[in-house]
Amino acid sequence: MVKNDPFENATKQVNDACDVLGIKDKGLREYLAMPNRLLRVKIPVKMDNGKIRVFTGFRSQHNNDRGPYKGGIRYFDPKGGVEYMEREVMALSSWMTWKCAIVDVPLGGGKGGIFVNPKTEKLSDGEMERLTRGFAYKIAEVIGPRKDIPAPDVYTTGREMTQIMDTFSKLNDNQYSPGVITGKPISMGGSLARNVATGLGTAYCVREAAKALKIKLKGAKVVLQGFGNASTFAGIYLEKMGAKIIGASDSKGSIIVPNGFKTEKLIAHKEKTGSVVNFPGSKTVSTEELLTTKCDILIPGALENQIDAKIAKNLKCKIIGEAANGPTLPEADPILYKNKILVIPDILANSGGVCISYLEWVQNNMGYYWTFDEVANKMEANITKGFRDAYEMSKKHKIDMRKAAMALAVQRVVEAFEQKGIWP
Ligand code: GLU
Repeated sequence: MVKNDPFENATKQVNDACDVLGIKDKGLREYLAMPNRLLRVKIPVKMDNGKIRVFTGFRSQHNNDRGPYKGGIRYFDPKGGVEYMEREVMALSSWMTWKCAIVDVPLGGGKGGIFVNPKTEKLSDGEMERLTRGFAYKIAEVIGPRKDIPAPDVYTTGREMTQIMDTFSKLNDNQYSPGVITGKPISMGGSLARNVATGLGTAYCVREAAKALKIKLKGAKVVLQGFGNASTFAGIYLEKMGAKIIGASDSKGSIIVPNGFKTEKLIAHKEKTGSVVNFPGSKTVSTEELLTTKCDILIPGALENQIDAKIAKNLKCKIIGEAANGPTLPEADPILYKNKILVIPDILANSGGVCISYLEWVQNNMGYYWTFDEVANKMEANITKGFRDAYEMSKKHKIDMRKAAMALAVQRVVEAFEQKGIWP
């Protein structure tokens, strides 16, 4: 048993959606909740000091009724250890299924990773490459451009995507296979706008939510929890839409600048010093103080399980845009709904990443590449439609946005499942 089990959280969300849809069949509920396949591998690596070290890796393939499995690969060492990570990738693969369904891209859900923290462990480039290629070798039989298409996630980048693609291509008769993975560098068949995609998608969602609540984005105050890829680009694009960023955090601490700051300036500070802390004009606060600061828009862009019941009760924002996966515990949702805080659930708020991953895969498959605007506009269309569909559902059934988005997504997967039936 692991504490704060993310897979239990994901399963509860599936069951809630089934309640909304009137799905009573226990077997169908179980089918929708459980991954189709969970692969756990050991990866021996020759370290620079000549010793062998064995790492544990995972790939969870949750559902492929609507298309090939799709989802990231993270290199991380969650506090709960390897067993926690197993449950985490199961949960994250489930969320990918619903994420693809809510924004209506024809893909399923997968997620994987290695229990390792490349930041704190300071692995050399050579060790990282041997680890990545070792992992790619171990999962090569279950991935493929028509089977399962990984992507970047926590602490993995275009470099790892390239090494996985190259390993896969070499194992498969040297066939050029850019469509086996997304989030690649542009020179390797990547898509324009993929690097900004998650944050840009979050900004589009927040814009739609502000419209729905009749809140002006001009001058709206934004707090970014986390300062990785998703939250920094959410900050940059929300700023372009007129909002003002007043707080941010990273693994080293949290800061607030009551009169606001330019995201670009904080990025430069972090590049120079390694952290957002000590940014000129800022005061350092605790994570809880950051989250509960009075603002209009809160963007949790870090890891899972950040907003519990206690924090939920004290939040003073109007909109939450979940740029991270699973930042809100199930116990917090009813409190937020009662307090009229509009939560744009992760499966919608951070789906810009997988939307553009989908477009990257399409471009790889046709061998023809679109401009930044073409890609961004296509993503905007998918994501705003996803938001409006979920918002309508939430109003119609008087339920929160998470339940609404989940119910719609589950409905779309059930439709595909029922068309195919069970075989063999
Ligand atoms: N890792 C990202 C996510 O959680 C992207 C997945 C993808 O592009 O396939 O949504």
